[in-house]
Amino acid sequence: MSAPERISRREALALIWFPFFPARHIALAGARYRILRNGHSRRRYLLIHGDEASARSVLAGYMQTHDGIAYLAENHTREVVVEGLKIDPNRWFSRVGAEASLRKLNAGPDPAQVQRALAAIDRGRERLVRAFTPPRGGVLVALHNNSSSYSVEAEAPISDRTSLKEPDNPHAFFLCTDPKDFAVLAASPYNVVLQQKAPPSDDGSLSRLAAARGFRYVNLEVRLGHPERQREMLWWLDWNLK
Ligand SMILES: [Zn+2]
Repeated sequence: MSAPERISRREALALIWFPFFPARHIALAGARYRILRNGHSRRRYLLIHGDEASARSVLAGYMQTHDGIAYLAENHTREVVVEGLKIDPNRWFSRVGAEASLRKLNAGPDPAQVQRALAAIDRGRERLVRAFTPPRGGVLVALHNNSSSYSVEAEAPISDRTSLKEPDNPHAFFLCTDPKDFAVLAASPYNVVLQQKAPPSDDGSLSRLAAARGFRYVNLEVRLGHPERQREMLWWLDWNLK
């Protein structure tokens, strides 16, 4: 056998095993997401904030009986650490958003440390975004839990369209980026806002990125501690959204 034909044992094993073992995790800095795959579907699901326990239990339960790929944060904190600095993992989808989050969550950070953190995020961002981006015709559904400080009332003024069927329950709502999805979700008994055009201030969140890149994205927000309501809305979405 001539030298170029010879492959190492390691390479041979890689060739044999690689197709059967898709990655079980994807990570960026201190954030690690467990990947759950079921059947063949263009649906993608995400729990990005590790401390949102109701959303975690709803999504984990949902994936036992539904097809798609789900990404679940393995950390149990809202913030994650990069180069020794805290950051909100739903603010690092743009460099400007990441820098603002680093400055907000860390008191007087060392400028060089901030630059190292931003460089680390820059290196890993696109890989994470590619994983979270649904294939053509698919949709990414991100589950969140909120508290008293955030509700649809913060999003309505910066949205393109709104349908507020439950004004007395502003913490439960859908936020979507596709007008067709808005039309479907607006027929639900729930609150929904459309943010098709990214608002001028880029906060680095995944919804802004989805609007900028033009992929279908739905945020499902429910107040922490109300898994039954979040389950009901996720099931409604699954049944009605094509
Ligand atoms: Zn969240």
